[in-house]
Amino acid sequence: MIMDLHNHTIYSYDGQNSPEQIIENAINNGVDVIGITDHQFSIGEGIGDYIKKLTECKAKYSGQIKVLAGLEIGTRPKPDDLLTHDIAGLDYVLFESLDDYRAMDFYEFVSWRHRFDCPVGLAHCDIFAMSDMYGVDMTEVLKSENIFWELNTSGHYSCYYDFLTNKRKRDAIRNAGIGVSVGSDTHALFEYRAAQLIRANELVEAEGFKKPFNV
Ligand SMILES: [Zn+2]
Repeated sequence: MIMDLHNHTIYSYDGQNSPEQIIENAINNGVDVIGITDHQFSIGEGIGDYIKKLTECKAKYSGQIKVLAGLEIGTRPKPDDLLTHDIAGLDYVLFESLDDYRAMDFYEFVSWRHRFDCPVGLAHCDIFAMSDMYGVDMTEVLKSENIFWELNTSGHYSCYYDFLTNKRKRDAIRNAGIGVSVGSDTHALFEYRAAQLIRANELVEAEGFKKPFNV
């Protein structure tokens, strides 16, 4: 099973392709499950239209690929309190960059996490650095709070490459039993990295990591 649970479309300020273009490209690259995760701060009040569009795409591509409606939530600064309204149609959300010094406090994030009934994941966060930052074992926190963790194959995050070559970290993720997702974090199809995406999915399989949720 090839998953790609992190993609941006023209609903994001920095996305360049339509949802259909992103989905059709995924089909052409053998992806089984594609998640669209535009930025909540770009969508704003348009969240209803966004979810409606993705719901249409689920039906349109049914039988070819499984389409999931996601949302990427910025933490620098913290999101607007109104965010949790009108999101009943979302399949999951990603919180990004909690390891950044400008991000909301981790414990504040945990309280935010409890506002969501859908699965919640961390996008491009170095949880091992966060363990040092907060003096807690983040793998235990993610396990107890039922938060999955993303392998981001965009090439912009060095913690992913460290993970690839660090057996101790891979063992820690497997032994903690936390869910692991793979996300290409595509913003434009000209920079799509199919080989890296597939490699990360093979790693999830080979290491026996738990699925992020029932994808
Ligand atoms: Zn993103």
